[in-house]
Amino acid sequence: MPELRYPHIFKPLDLGFVTLPNRVLMGSMHTGLEDRLWNWPRLTAYFVERARGGVGLMVTGGIAPNRRGSLAPLASKLTNRWEAMRHRRMTEAVHEAGGRICMQILHAGRYAYHPFSVAPSAIQSPITPFKPRALSEQGVEAQIRSFVRCARLARHAGYDGIEVMGSEGYFINQFLVPRTNQRSDRWGGSFENRMRLPVEIVRRTREAVGEDFIIIYRLSMIDMLADGNSWDEVVTLGQAIEEAGASIINTGIGWHETRVPTIATSVPRAAFTWVTRKLRDSVSLPLVTSNRINMPHTAEAVLASGDADMISMARPFLADPDWVNKAAANRPEEINTCIACNQACLDHVFQNKVASCLVNPRAAHETELVIRPAEHRKRVAVVGAGPAGLAAATTAARRGHEVVLFDQAERIGGQFNMAMRVPGKEEFVETLRYFTHQIEITGVELRLQTTVDVSLLQQEKFDEVIIAAGVTPRDPRIPGQDHASVLSYIDVLLHRKPVGRRVAVIGAGGIGFDVSEFLVHADVPGTPDPDQPRPEDFFRQWGVDMDMNGRGGVEGTQPDFGQPQREVTLLQRKTTKPGAGLGKTTGWIHRASLKNMGVNMLGGVSYERIDDAGLHVRIGEKETRCLEVDNIIICAGQLPRRDLADALKSADIECHLIGGADVAAELDAKRAIDQGTRLAARL
Ligand code: FAD
Ligand code: NAP
Ligand code: SF4
Repeated sequence: MPELRYPHIFKPLDLGFVTLPNRVLMGSMHTGLEDRLWNWPRLTAYFVERARGGVGLMVTGGIAPNRRGSLAPLASKLTNRWEAMRHRRMTEAVHEAGGRICMQILHAGRYAYHPFSVAPSAIQSPITPFKPRALSEQGVEAQIRSFVRCARLARHAGYDGIEVMGSEGYFINQFLVPRTNQRSDRWGGSFENRMRLPVEIVRRTREAVGEDFIIIYRLSMIDMLADGNSWDEVVTLGQAIEEAGASIINTGIGWHETRVPTIATSVPRAAFTWVTRKLRDSVSLPLVTSNRINMPHTAEAVLASGDADMISMARPFLADPDWVNKAAANRPEEINTCIACNQACLDHVFQNKVASCLVNPRAAHETELVIRPAEHRKRVAVVGAGPAGLAAATTAARRGHEVVLFDQAERIGGQFNMAMRVPGKEEFVETLRYFTHQIEITGVELRLQTTVDVSLLQQEKFDEVIIAAGVTPRDPRIPGQDHASVLSYIDVLLHRKPVGRRVAVIGAGGIGFDVSEFLVHADVPGTPDPDQPRPEDFFRQWGVDMDMNGRGGVEGTQPDFGQPQREVTLLQRKTTKPGAGLGKTTGWIHRASLKNMGVNMLGGVSYERIDDAGLHVRIGEKETRCLEVDNIIICAGQLPRRDLADALKSADIECHLIGGADVAAELDAKRAIDQGTRLAARL
């Protein structure tokens, strides 16, 4: 056995009646598979793959204790023995694979997306269209009984325990703060009354399930709402939950309506572990910390510093089911790191699609996207080492094909070499590190600084040719665009051309937003480092008080993003809200960040000309204006790069097109990697 590089991660945790083999918990994630009966075999395969990957304990997505508490009309619930049978098949498979699994009981309260929702008071949430019904006292009792029945059924279904979802603004959280609880009976008013609900749930559940069953309580430690719980209330509740019989306390950060990013890629790694740390001296139960921990050295440092007893990671297990085994084998460089983009996980869930992962399209698709050894070894050329080409080349080579991967650039990565330069997107560097190692491990022959043409492909005789040549920037054809002040996003992000103080950015798509973000910050030389962004800076920017003097950690604070490096005007022709097409769960962060940095956003613009005076635009029908700027950066979208594919067609050579080379419209790395992986899986 090699010496463990991460001794704190691999220290067993003894809960008295069960010992967990390591300090890693796979946190609860809704995949969408839970909600449909026919998807349970897929859900089982998903958990089994992660159990085999060595994680200490897993928690399922939220399962409702009754119909009213479910997140959406047909969302999963556990209310009877018939439903428990379905769960049992899954828990048995997990146990056979050597894993342990708890079921999360989640009552949505006013966050439910149906008209039958119930809550402490009839106050609608800002993120759902339905007003909940206020529960009677009897109604509150009925909800507690539902929680207890659900926990008992979970035990019957073979789970190792349950997690009571007490955070993120769901039903239990709604009882805890006056903002959502305006009751005057024994369930409202004083904090003692407001916290009665979670304490009763845990106390009665413990009585019902016995001593040898894990009860995790997910405690909202920082609400990040101006009228959220005070730190004293958090401590009081934590102590009462311990007293009531919980086995572990897990950390909840923020409500869904909180306007501080909690898990997006711009949140620094392990940014919130100090919150868990604050509670450590006040309770004696093992504490789990969470949010934006994605690599073993980060997890090890958090545990070694004493911030928590255990680490919860959720999305990193979508990205790589073998995270724990790779850490145990001292091979962190092989981990496919979650880059916290939310694009295929949370964004999918909010669009009612099954979750997956941008960097691992097999996540939650294990039964359907199977990477089998190839029947016949083929010689495969992949042209372009961007995300699409990297996924195709390494997947094909893993199946046993002989693969040559070409790129004209000096390094792999394609557009990711620009994305990673954007402040808050430093994590993208990890995907390139992962693929660099995969190229080595799978034996792909990499030929950089090689521009592929038809004759090269003809000389070398390949059985399959995959074109992953990406995109070319769209030419916006603005009169005067050859002026010296005009640059492309490639000039700015890749070639690092100097940019003046006053800038106009043409095009408010994903790249226009990213370029603006880049311009308002000071440039950081060298390779971006995902460990660099500091939590202190992040909390100052978003107005979070790390001393938690005010309620919810944000009362009385103001966001402070500091002085922008440049004056930026971001323009688009459409009249819709700039950035409307950005990610469902992250778009608001990009918009808020640029607004706080003073970026001026103009819609309904037409571009008249560019000259020494600047950029002349017409706004709406009448107004014309000259934006007196030092530089104009063009981010006007992209077109497929097809020169090679067209030449191959003329030479009667067949090829496969993937990524941007196939379709550039609405291209993102999620599609590029998915397409590359799926093509290679069937070659
Ligand atoms: P590319 O990444 O463009 O790679 C194509 C490669 O082919 C290049 O390396 C090129 O050198 C090579 N090539 C071309 N022709 C030849 C030839 N004849 N011979 C040899 N090599 C050749 N996507 C997201 O999903 N999320 C984001 O947050 C995100 N942020 C972004 C931020 C920025 C600033 C930018 C620029 C892009 C961002 N993207 C993001 C988009 C994402 O990077 C692209 O969708 C993705 O890179 C497309 O992958 P691809 O493999 O199709 O093409
Ligand atoms: P994009 O999102 O399609 O945006 C292109 C922008 O250019 C639009 O604002 C468009 O707005 C403008 N435009 C289009 N044609 C124009 C013309 N002829 N003249 C002037 N302006 C024109 O493309 P992108 O910003 O280049 O991004 C490329 C891809 O990368 C996108 O598909 C995106 O998904 C991906 N990406 C994603 C992220 C992310 O965070 N998920 C970040 C960066 C990039 P008007 O037509 O209204 O002017
Ligand atoms: Fe992480 Fe993005 Fe994958 Fe979600 S889609 S698990 S955030 S890498």
